[in-house]
Amino acid sequence: MKGKPGSLYIHIPFCAKKCIYCDFFSIPFDETRAVRYMDSAVKELEMTRGRASALDTIYIGGGTPTTMPVRSLVMLVRKIKGSFEVADKAEITIEANPGTIDREKARALHEAGINRFSIGAQSFDDGQLRLLGRIHTSEETVSAIDAVRSAGVSNISIDLIYGIPGQTLDGWLHTVDEAVGLSPAHISAYELTPERGTPLYELISQGRIAKPDEESIVQMYYSAMEKLEAEGYGHYEISNFARPGFECGHNLNYWNRGEYIGIGAGAHGFIGGIRTRNICDVDKYIDATEVGRLPVEESSEISREDALKEAVFLGLRKMEGLNMTEIRQAFGVDIAAAAGELVDEGLLLSEGESLRLTRRGVVVSNTVIAELFERMEL
Ligand code: SF4
Repeated sequence: MKGKPGSLYIHIPFCAKKCIYCDFFSIPFDETRAVRYMDSAVKELEMTRGRASALDTIYIGGGTPTTMPVRSLVMLVRKIKGSFEVADKAEITIEANPGTIDREKARALHEAGINRFSIGAQSFDDGQLRLLGRIHTSEETVSAIDAVRSAGVSNISIDLIYGIPGQTLDGWLHTVDEAVGLSPAHISAYELTPERGTPLYELISQGRIAKPDEESIVQMYYSAMEKLEAEGYGHYEISNFARPGFECGHNLNYWNRGEYIGIGAGAHGFIGGIRTRNICDVDKYIDATEVGRLPVEESSEISREDALKEAVFLGLRKMEGLNMTEIRQAFGVDIAAAAGELVDEGLLLSEGESLRLTRRGVVVSNTVIAELFERMEL
């Protein structure tokens, strides 16, 4: 069926404990509420059935989905398969944090059809894990990866964070080395961002801790890039690296402005040029689904200008860049002309139909993209 999304995201907002840097929608795990929540997610799935074509990607994210009892997660995957057609080779990911996954759980999830695990390792320095408020040690990360692998899963991704207060370049490279030593198929490396309203932001504002300086952070990024590329991980998106063929299909759909269905409290969806956001409060979300109401809180049609900005912003996140011909055909905008000076300054590279960030441009991508917007005739 053409013209319907082939991707589904399900948000599970529960975590064992809140990390100090976290501004995702997550709340402490409480079994009774979590079980009611899962029933509501299933109701929403049933209300949404028929809105997708065969699903190529399913992503169960959070929060920490693996704080949920395994039977609830298995039931959820069965309900997805009962509500939607799922392609034979669909990529089905679950986010799992060390300390919440063992071999038995991993095997049950794999048997249910989950074939990709994204593990929140963040650091292989236990002091930094404690500082971030993570519930696990680096040894538990190694055990979690062993458990998932021994359950028969080969598509494993590891998330890492750099720019942690007190982190040195050598300390970061140790984390990258440890991650590579575990031989995952995919590694994501994100800069720690102190978001307003988080305890981390407060600690930094009060001068009690400090992030490494800008130059060190840039060095951390470059050195990870070099190390991971040398180890055979292709750099395919600003923060993402994969062995050939293991790029995350679900996220590539976001960066390609593909459509997707979002299920769960706070989940976003994008269907037919309309972006939606579900109710962010778990109890109100449950109330809505219990009376058979779709729990959508916000819904907005994307204007031509916003669609163009999204296409440029998301397209440039990919290291292969965006296709200028496609942009011209879709929006009638000559992006090559707008990019001229940024190309001359060595921040963007224009090659044939593609426009992409250079090595210099990638570390200041937000500024480059903002400048490109200013020069574009919208
Ligand atoms: S585990 Fe992830 S979602 Fe949960 S509190 Fe920590 S950073 Fe946030």
